[in-house]
Amino acid sequence: MRIVVALGGNALLKRGEKPDARNQIENVNLAAEQLAKLAKDHELVITHGNGPQVGVLALESASDTRLSEPYPFDTLGAETQGMIGYWLQQGVKNALPSANVMALINQTLVLADDPAFANPTKFIGEVYSKEEAEKLAAERGWVVKADGEYFRRVVGSPKPQRVIETPLIKVLLDAGATVICGGGGGVPVVRNGEGKLEGVEAVIDKDLTAAVMADSLEADMLIILTDVDGAQLDYGTPNARRIDRATPAEMRGYGFPAGSMGPKVEAVCRFVELTGGVAAIGRLEDATKIIAGEAGTIVTPDGTYNA
Ligand code: ADP
Ligand code: MG
Repeated sequence: MRIVVALGGNALLKRGEKPDARNQIENVNLAAEQLAKLAKDHELVITHGNGPQVGVLALESASDTRLSEPYPFDTLGAETQGMIGYWLQQGVKNALPSANVMALINQTLVLADDPAFANPTKFIGEVYSKEEAEKLAAERGWVVKADGEYFRRVVGSPKPQRVIETPLIKVLLDAGATVICGGGGGVPVVRNGEGKLEGVEAVIDKDLTAAVMADSLEADMLIILTDVDGAQLDYGTPNARRIDRATPAEMRGYGFPAGSMGPKVEAVCRFVELTGGVAAIGRLEDATKIIAGEAGTIVTPDGTYNA
């Protein structure tokens, strides 16, 4: 099978853990053991989150007095693809020496008139007082919004339309490579007035980019790996229970929170609706069990799955 997996940010950095390289490499190596099991038997594309990492780089850039302004988020996103991509590339290679693993920097096209730009909602970077935030907004053209008692910069989260490097990713997969790409949703770019690609300040959802890649790469399966056993009904209550099998229409009918399970459910539904393929959400440790139909939430056109 050709499989696209999306790896959650918490697989790289657990909540509350220091963002030291050492900690992240340890976590990546644990994830890599699971990913290597998939790479052994399947054509594999790996994408990953970058929220905490891009936050660290943004803070560093903002406090570098040699710069007249911090590096923009498209550039920082590319930095995180290089850093996390390198860690994963090394981890998977060590776990499966026969694998040929390549991490790519990729650009993800979004539409300049995506409504998300007019109504930015994703908080990024540091917190500021109201006065500081307004000053920075005026100086740097930022949009700032209240986040609790502080103010923070917000950027839009436009919908990924296409991954620019798709033809090359296909070549690598056909050649037997395991490809790491689409990290952090990919570097957000738009086409400018001359039709040229240009980076934009935005944060693309990595789960939605994974769905776009899985479709365009004609993957058989999209697997979203995170820190819960699947999409649950009555989540966070004593009645919480994992959805085992479902159709996209059933999943859309339940409703899930926007910042976390929502984009994962949207991603699996889109992939299944567009391709008629199989998509799943589950725990990183259960990756092979999910493919075997023994774990996770599995979404298919008719809501059945037999491995
Ligand atoms: P990732 O870093 O893997 O993208 P997220 O934090 O974005 O992880 O999303 C996974 C989280 O979604 C879970 O840890 C859980 O706290 C939360 N969540 C919210 N609603 C649900 C639900 N209905 N079922 C399962 N998890 C849910
Ligand atoms: Mg997430």
